[in-house]
Amino acid sequence: MALVARVLLPLPLPEAFDYLVPEGAELAVGDHVAAPLGPRLVRGVVVELREAHGINRPLKALQGRIDEPPLPPGTLAFVEWAARYGCGAPGEALAMALRGLRAPLPNPERLVAATGQAPAKPTPARARVLEAALAGPQKAAALALTAGVSAGVVKGLIEDGALAWVERAADAGFAEPDLTLPGATLNASQKAAATVLADLATAGGFGVALLDGVTGSGKTEVYLEAAAAALAADPSAQVLILLPEIALTQAVIARVETRFGAAPAEWHSGVASPRRRQVWEAVARGSCRIVVGARSALFLPFANLRLIVVDEEHDGSFKQEDGFIYHARDLAVARAKIEGAAVVLASATPSLESIWNAQGGRYRWLKLSKRHGTATLPEIALVDLRETPPEAGRWLSPVLARAMVETFAAGEQSLLFLNRRGYAPLVLCRACGERMTSPDSQSWLVEHRYTGRLVCHLTGWSMPKPLACPHCGAKDSLVSIGPGVERLEEEARILLPEARIAVFSSDTVQDAAGARTLVARMAEGEIDVLVATQAAAKGHNFPRLTLVGVVDADLGLRGGDLRAAERTYQLLAQATGRAGRAERPGRALIQTYAPEHAVMQALKAQDRDGFLAAEAEAREASGLPPYGRLAALIASSPDPVVLDAFCQALAAAVPNAEGVEVYGPADAPLGLIRGRRRKRFLVRADRTVDLQGFLTAWRARVRVPGAVRLTIDVDPYSFL
Ligand code: ADP
Repeated sequence: MALVARVLLPLPLPEAFDYLVPEGAELAVGDHVAAPLGPRLVRGVVVELREAHGINRPLKALQGRIDEPPLPPGTLAFVEWAARYGCGAPGEALAMALRGLRAPLPNPERLVAATGQAPAKPTPARARVLEAALAGPQKAAALALTAGVSAGVVKGLIEDGALAWVERAADAGFAEPDLTLPGATLNASQKAAATVLADLATAGGFGVALLDGVTGSGKTEVYLEAAAAALAADPSAQVLILLPEIALTQAVIARVETRFGAAPAEWHSGVASPRRRQVWEAVARGSCRIVVGARSALFLPFANLRLIVVDEEHDGSFKQEDGFIYHARDLAVARAKIEGAAVVLASATPSLESIWNAQGGRYRWLKLSKRHGTATLPEIALVDLRETPPEAGRWLSPVLARAMVETFAAGEQSLLFLNRRGYAPLVLCRACGERMTSPDSQSWLVEHRYTGRLVCHLTGWSMPKPLACPHCGAKDSLVSIGPGVERLEEEARILLPEARIAVFSSDTVQDAAGARTLVARMAEGEIDVLVATQAAAKGHNFPRLTLVGVVDADLGLRGGDLRAAERTYQLLAQATGRAGRAERPGRALIQTYAPEHAVMQALKAQDRDGFLAAEAEAREASGLPPYGRLAALIASSPDPVVLDAFCQALAAAVPNAEGVEVYGPADAPLGLIRGRRRKRFLVRADRTVDLQGFLTAWRARVRVPGAVRLTIDVDPYSFL
């Protein structure tokens, strides 16, 4: 009987398609196949095979199997689960899992090897080459060097037939971790936590632990021990360590390398595609055992994933907001459940969601309440900007400026934290009041002095800074309003002309190598003042850093967002936690116009639990996450009339359901992006409601016009 294959294509289609399996083709679930789609052939993955009973329509036949490592069953199940959870197209989730296959493998190496044939004209030089060639295939240049001859001698021997070119697949270079190397000698509370984690990671089954430890308590050391245990317990076990930022992956890669004597595989958008393909294949074959990566590494085709570590688990960067929408922390737990693996969520400021799960007993809760060794937590003081304001046109209050001078004089380092790239967040015309905005998004253009451009941070659109106001034509009338990191650098240079000052933002550090260099320079003490956005404010260890100045603590509190207070607390606790991580005690000064705000008071008192309890109470009272669930529907279109009509139809189609409230449509706070108008609906549901079922039913009731894009965001983190 003929066979039918259900094949998922990595495209935004609602479901997998049936194809006939060609006679004699040996196919299995997870195999890559070439499938006809309209006039094209596309790659797909077999998700089901069955006998062709009761098929009464003609099916197209598959063109055959593509010879690549198949997707393991756990990866396939995860892809389908992730799509269902996010109400997304399963093919989009599959596309995430196939991202490593976009490029061919790196070019094979061309080496030369002896053929066994004697050269027609033997010479002493030629004899030396042939002797050196006995060592095996090697690069022509290396061979010439060993034999002490010129490249021409090797070339002559190839022409003569005594040597020949051979190709060898480029070495992927995934060395086995050395499990005999000792880890750090753990202190008592680290040891207790590591033991629980090691048991969890080797017990063989699903389990989640929240590793809740203050900054500098040694969480990394502890989870590396859990990784060691998992790798030792099973010779094919694989470990995935997820980090929110590329800059942080670099630091952890170095620590993994030290701990296991072998570099882990690295996975993030900065890794070149041929290298990604090597990693993909090695992960699928099980020949690469430790991966350190950003959120998308969760979609790699692990052959035997035993442990996932989500470091800085509270971080909002784990949420992917465009394309296939997902939250890597939440999906890590789902994937581990599918694979029967363990998860460690590590943070000094865990999310309310994870605390809630730990309190409810669903996660093991492991606490490290002290910094390792003699390091103590920094002293934190609030600087009331109403009482001690900076001078006009300056951003550092006299209190913070004095502290920086003292720190520099003591030969120690300062970090100025301001979560704003560029020079100034707004440019306006003194003559007519015109604010410079981007033409297709209406958002303020941010001035960047290094490049002399005005940049839209939403879309990346930019223009050179004009000499005259484009609105009224006045010359030299454009003024820069407010500070960004570049402007703070300027101010720091005036304050400390002798100091070595650097800026760490996504503009100055564009790739992993750049991040590595800057972090190393800071750690080595080659920088006195680091002006940084959040790119540098988390995770790093700078032993000589003793002063952290938060320039504008109120920044993240503006704008209505369910998690504004929680996020501000996390970010500032992380930033201030950079201070005093070695012998010298640290301090942090937080500049604010609202010192009475609960977030500022909690930071000052270092009372995280009190703050979280108050937050939790407020969320519970209004049924917000984690006590209730949220989803957003975002409709956008270049045509405002079509968009309005569609949103009205959508509003009229809301299914009747208990325990669900739908708000909207409302103009999105970012009402125009890249020429598309945007409107939003917000859905709040009780935890008992099948939110995905509700959303799917709702979407099925409307037809989405071609000019409209409708996005569903389950568990939204952005409300813009
Ligand atoms: P966290 O991840 O909790 O912020 P880290 O694991 O980065 O903390 O540890 C902070 C610093 O203390 C690091 O430099 C680390 O190497 C050091 N450290 C932590 N625990 C130990 C230990 N048991 N022995 C030696 N050094 C340690």
